[in-house]
Amino acid sequence: MYTTISNILKDAVRRKYAVVACSAINMEMARGIVSAASRANAPIIFLLGQNMMRQHAKAELLIPMIRTLAEYAPVPIATCLDHGNDPERILYSFRNGFSSIMYDGSLLPFEKNIENTKRVAEAVHSMGMGIEGELGHVGIAAACDGRDSSLYTDPADAERFAMETGVDCLAVAVGTAHGEYPKGYVPHISFERISEIRSRLPEMPLALHGGSGSGEENIIKAVEAGINKVNVVTDLFIAARNYLRDETASHPDIPYIELMSGMEKAVSLLAGKWISMTGSEGKADGIRPVNRIRTLESFEVVGLSE
Ligand SMILES: [Zn+2]
Repeated sequence: MYTTISNILKDAVRRKYAVVACSAINMEMARGIVSAASRANAPIIFLLGQNMMRQHAKAELLIPMIRTLAEYAPVPIATCLDHGNDPERILYSFRNGFSSIMYDGSLLPFEKNIENTKRVAEAVHSMGMGIEGELGHVGIAAACDGRDSSLYTDPADAERFAMETGVDCLAVAVGTAHGEYPKGYVPHISFERISEIRSRLPEMPLALHGGSGSGEENIIKAVEAGINKVNVVTDLFIAARNYLRDETASHPDIPYIELMSGMEKAVSLLAGKWISMTGSEGKADGIRPVNRIRTLESFEVVGLSE
């Protein structure tokens, strides 16, 4: 079932669990993730970041494939343009069949973030799609940005941001960061901050970015405190890379199809672990099929398919 993040995450708030949001940049990763979600009877969200699309994973190819997998899968599946902040790229998502976008105005001044997010939310909703906004700023793990509590989401601001922008999900900065943490470093997550935001916004789905490498205990506690969407990108990429590295080292002549099938399984196994960690296992049945997503057919955006 192909649907929006808003449809999936409403249930996650109601039943107090989180949905795994992860990235696939090829068929093997996409199938591995969908098979993990199907096995666990869990909803799942696919993220496609702007840089990912520029470097390698073209939405024109990936989104139709994920939508096809979604149509045959017994579980709800959404796609989300991750960290969209470029107006052209947002239009591009309208044209390429995404079901949702995350608009990232987190580096803008507060009032400007509200103004832009509200404008994007209106356009996104008119397409039948879902939208996530970000308040506070989730930085880069390698730079230890998660330690800087001045970047954390302010609960009172979060309340105003949610009311005025009309977003369907709010990404909060509470101690995690994007990418790989320095070796041996486990982020300190402010569960209190999550609970404060949750108590001010009892019905708003809250997203935790930078889930990779955050540690199982941290993730379980963050979900208990009120997180409903956990972004896990780096960990799945590492699982795919490590599988290929180890397998080609021990069996240099492995048939290519076998190698790709093995990578799919490695991704699927790890995605399954994240699904049970976030409590989304068995939750697919509570989500009704809703799909009013439109696609802009006749929109010319020059220079975006580089
Ligand atoms: Zn992110």
